[in-house]
Amino acid sequence: MELQTTSARSECPECFDDIQLEAVMQNEIVQCAGCGVDLEVIELDPVTLELAPEEEEDWGE
Ligand SMILES: [Zn+2]
Repeated sequence: MELQTTSARSECPECFDDIQLEAVMQNEIVQCAGCGVDLEVIELDPVTLELAPEEEEDWGE
C-alpha cells in the first residue's frame, strides 16, 4: 500500500488562519497554529481539513 502525502496551504475551518501542510497523509491530524484546534486531513486532492473529533486520549504518562 502506497502512502500518499502532499504539501499544500489550507485554511483552518475554525479560525480561517492559513495552515501550511508539509507531507501530510490522509487522515493525519494536524494542529492549527492559530487557534490550536486539532484538524483531520480528510482529503488530499484537494486538501480538505475538518475538525477532528474530540477524544479524551490517555497518553499514559
Ligand atoms: Zn484555527
